[in-house]
Amino acid sequence: MSKLDAIEVLDRPGRLVRIGPGARWMDVAAALRPYGWALSSGDYGGVGVGGLATAGGIGFLGRDHGLTIDHLRAVEMVLADGSVVRASEAENADLFWAVRGAGANFGIVTAFEFQVDEVGDVGWAQLVMDARDTTTFLERWGAVQEAAPRDLTSFLIVSPPRSGQPATAIVLAMVNAGVPETVIDRLQPLAGIAPMYDQQVVITSYADVMANASREDHNGQGDPTTRSGLAEHITPEFAAAAARLIHSGAVYFFQIRSVGGAVADVPADATAYAHRSANFSVVAFGVNRQRMDREWARLEPYLDGLYLSFETDQRPERLRDAFPPHTLRRLGELKARYDPDNVFRDNFNIRPEEA
Ligand SMILES: Cc1cc2nc3c(=O)[nH]c(=O)nc-3n(C[C@H](O)[C@H](O)[C@H](O)COP(=O)(O)OP(=O)(O)OC[C@H]3O[C@@H](n4cnc5c(N)ncnc54)[C@H](O)[C@@H]3O)c2cc1C
Repeated sequence: MSKLDAIEVLDRPGRLVRIGPGARWMDVAAALRPYGWALSSGDYGGVGVGGLATAGGIGFLGRDHGLTIDHLRAVEMVLADGSVVRASEAENADLFWAVRGAGANFGIVTAFEFQVDEVGDVGWAQLVMDARDTTTFLERWGAVQEAAPRDLTSFLIVSPPRSGQPATAIVLAMVNAGVPETVIDRLQPLAGIAPMYDQQVVITSYADVMANASREDHNGQGDPTTRSGLAEHITPEFAAAAARLIHSGAVYFFQIRSVGGAVADVPADATAYAHRSANFSVVAFGVNRQRMDREWARLEPYLDGLYLSFETDQRPERLRDAFPPHTLRRLGELKARYDPDNVFRDNFNIRPEEA
């Protein structure tokens, strides 16, 4: 889809923008910046619009402005029978519902129409912290993030201890405010979680934060081995289980993203992405699938739901984690209607039989 990468303003007063699925998020952010606008996206500018905007879109503006799909107003897409349709609240509303969370199962979106937000300067912080007491660190970060005003969205990466060094954490935080006093006010509770090794805080633009990817073709090899899930709260039990996972040796990258806020304002049945009450999205990267699954099992009792974009376990149970029963049944009915032969199956596949 990479050639379908146009970004055009359709209606300036209404902040309506049409974006091709092959555009990348760093280009979207750069194109919107001159208007004083931004669109809630993921954290990495190199990711494409198509996959993220049909699945959810969890990013640094999430608590203030919701998921990427929450800004969708219409799509144009090619269905399994080759027909080209438009879907919005007014046309093919059921398809529009399905596209916002399970889009890959229903067709190929050739254009997205988003209503974007006015976003000025933002505070952007990168804090490197001591996470040797990993359980306490996770609990404290979760409590600070849940108690914070919506303009703070932070992501946490905890690295396992290496070569005799203690475990460390990187907190990446965006404050959707350009006023230094507000930025410092929001960051202070994060800074108090644990001793800090290093920090950088700047006032910048969303576009500058998103300009974090190379323009070269990537040369990544193979598929990662990940497990993922959503959680309502970082309870002491969750934190202890996560700390055991991080220190197990099975994981080389562990991340928790804060969600909640504006994401939870949208009713659970309004889009196919239904786990609106989750405050956190968790992902772990490992090397060995069996070992990863074994260790991840400790965390599962504390998870409720799944965001499929970070998951690589293809077992059918994952569909049931991602979509509550009512949502999955409705998706199955729509699949039977829009793609009865299951043409679009090279993904987390919703079969017509789910109905
Ligand atoms: C480094 C990195 C960071 C990430 N960070 C975030 C993040 O912060 N937040 C977040 O929410 N996600 C994040 N993701 C996950 C990302 O949302 C998914 O990987 C997404 O599928 C990427 O979309 P793409 O179009 O770039 O990928 P592609 O590989 O082109 O597409 C992936 C899949 O998406 C579907 N798809 C793609 N285009 C279309 C289309 N036009 N119509 C219908 N279906 C389509 C297809 O099933 C396709 O196989 C990240 C991924 C990476 C690699």
